[in-house]
Amino acid sequence: MSLIVQKYGGSSVSSVEKIEHIAKRISKIKNEGNDLVIVVSAMGDTTDKLLELAFKLNPDPPKRERDMLLSSGETISSSLLSIALHSIGEEAIAFNGAQGGIITSEVYTKARIQKIEIKNILKELKRGMIVVVAGFQGITLHNNITTLGRGGSDTTAVALAAALKADLCEIYTDVEGIYTADPRIVPEARKLKHISYEDTLELASLGAKVIHLRAIELAKKYKITLHIRSSFTEKEGTIIA
Ligand code: ADP
Ligand code: ASP
Ligand code: MG
Repeated sequence: MSLIVQKYGGSSVSSVEKIEHIAKRISKIKNEGNDLVIVVSAMGDTTDKLLELAFKLNPDPPKRERDMLLSSGETISSSLLSIALHSIGEEAIAFNGAQGGIITSEVYTKARIQKIEIKNILKELKRGMIVVVAGFQGITLHNNITTLGRGGSDTTAVALAAALKADLCEIYTDVEGIYTADPRIVPEARKLKHISYEDTLELASLGAKVIHLRAIELAKKYKITLHIRSSFTEKEGTIIA
């Protein structure tokens, strides 16, 4: 039996059908005898849409309020995924970042995770629950909701994998792994089987948004092996180690 952290990006949860699809995938892995902590991003382009609304109301939306707003995107997808899991007979519980014990600095819109209080998650895993955590967010010691910067759900997943000493951390996205260049722009780009933390850091710092820079920094620091893969196929993706 393994403890697996899986993160599903916005494109993997962008519709009811896609949420149903990943719920089935999660159920299969759970029934193979694994403990699962699932991290989700907001559905599709929800984060952009919410930001657009804020900027319509105010050319400079206060950052604290922006974080309150944006965190709701991930809260929606975590609840919907948990609801979908229940409908196929699984026991699941959705947590927002605060309930998941994710404590951050007070730097709104780009907070850093300072510690994770894992007791709630551990309690639920012990009861056999699939724990679904809203990515991209946390809470400060002064009870304010923060977000971790665009693309930050990857970092939630890696930080949870480190705190829970998970056996595996899988990042599900809309491409089959890490390529030599962005496969949407360079069709002849080649998928990599393996890549080092250093090379991934370089890719991320050059702006390849396939994985959040901070997620790689944490993975390197805590020696977490990451598997970047597609939620739409069973194919092996890219191992970052
Ligand atoms: P998610 O919503 O799953 O977090 P993102 O949109 O943040 O997904 O990241 C995946 C995207 O990263 C891909 O659709 C691809 O266009 C882009 N990308 C940029 N550079 C690369 C690369 N070298 N390899 C793979 N994908 C890349
Ligand atoms: N939903 C957030 C964003 O669009 C976080 C994430 O997707 O990782 O940036
Ligand atoms: Mg992303």
